[in-house]
Amino acid sequence: MVSATQIAQLRVLILGGTSEGAQLAARLSGRANLSVISSLAGRVVDLKLPEGEVRVGGFGGVDGLASYLVNEKIAVVIDVTHPYAARISQHAEIACRRTGLPLIALDRPPWNRLDGDRWHEVDDFQSAAKFVDREKTRVFLSIGRQELASFSVCSNAWFLIRAIEKPTEQLPPHHQLVLQRGAFALEDELKLLRDHAIDYVVSKNSGGLATYNKIAAARSLNTPVVLVRRPFKHNIETFQTVEGVVATLDRLIRDTCASENLASGIE
Ligand code: NAP
Repeated sequence: MVSATQIAQLRVLILGGTSEGAQLAARLSGRANLSVISSLAGRVVDLKLPEGEVRVGGFGGVDGLASYLVNEKIAVVIDVTHPYAARISQHAEIACRRTGLPLIALDRPPWNRLDGDRWHEVDDFQSAAKFVDREKTRVFLSIGRQELASFSVCSNAWFLIRAIEKPTEQLPPHHQLVLQRGAFALEDELKLLRDHAIDYVVSKNSGGLATYNKIAAARSLNTPVVLVRRPFKHNIETFQTVEGVVATLDRLIRDTCASENLASGIE
C-alpha cells in the first residue's frame, strides 16, 4: 500500500466565500494528505476567514487563474462559490480545462415555492427594480451590495436596504439602510416586515437556511416576493451538498493513488 507521505500533499484550491466553503475547509484542513487553500473574492472588509490557508482577491481573469493553478501546483479545484457568482465558476471551468485539472462543483439547491408563497420571478435585477418602483410602495431590498445600483433609478418606491457593510454603490433616493450579517431568525424577519409596513420583498434565490426566513416571513404575512432567478453557472456535473463534494474528492484521490501505484508498480 502506498502511504500518505508517498501520495505527498495534494494541493486543493477551494473557491469559497460561502458557508459551504468554510465547512469544506474545516472538513479538509486536518487531512495529512491534503494541502488546502481557500480563495475569497474579498467583497467585505470584515472577512470571516475559513480554517487553514487563505488567499484573497481576484486572480485576474481566466489567464490569471490558469497561471495561479500552475504556479501553485494545484491538483484539484473545488468550486463552492455563491449561486450568483457565475463569472468565477465559468473562469474555473475554462482554466481547469486548459490546465487539465479536475474541477468539483457544488450547486446549492434553490428554494422551492411552497403553498402560500406569492413569488414573482424575474430574470435580472433591472427587471426587479422596474417591477417594484411604484408610488407609495415600501420595498425590503435584501440582495447584498453588488447589484444595488440597479435600483438607483427607482424614484417612486421607498426601500429598506439590508447589507453586511455600507454600500458604495449608488442607492435609490428614498431609502433606509440596515447593516446586519445573517443568519436571521423568523421572528426578527416578521417584525422587520411588519414594523416597516413592507409591500414587497426583493431577493435572490440563494438557497440554504441563513437567509431563508425573510421568504418564510413574507409567506406568513402574505407579502409578495420578487425573486431574481439564478444565473447559469456550470456545464459540468454539480453536487448539492458538502458531503457529495467530499465523497467525489475522496474517489478522485483513490483513483489517482490507484493509477500512480499501477505506474510505479506498488501494490
Ligand atoms: P463573480 O461575478 O462570479 O466574480 C467576479 C470576479 O470576482 C471574478 O471574475 C474573480 O475575479 C473574482 N472572484 C469571485 N469569486 C472569487 C473567489 N472565490 N476567489 C477569487 N476571486 C473571486 O462573483 P462576485 O462578483 O463576487 O459576486 C457575484 C454575485 O454573487 C453577487 O450577487 C454577490 O452578492 C454574490 N455573492 C458573492 C460572494 C463571493 O464571495 N464572491 C458571496 C456571496 C454572494 P478575477 O476575474 O480577477 O479572478
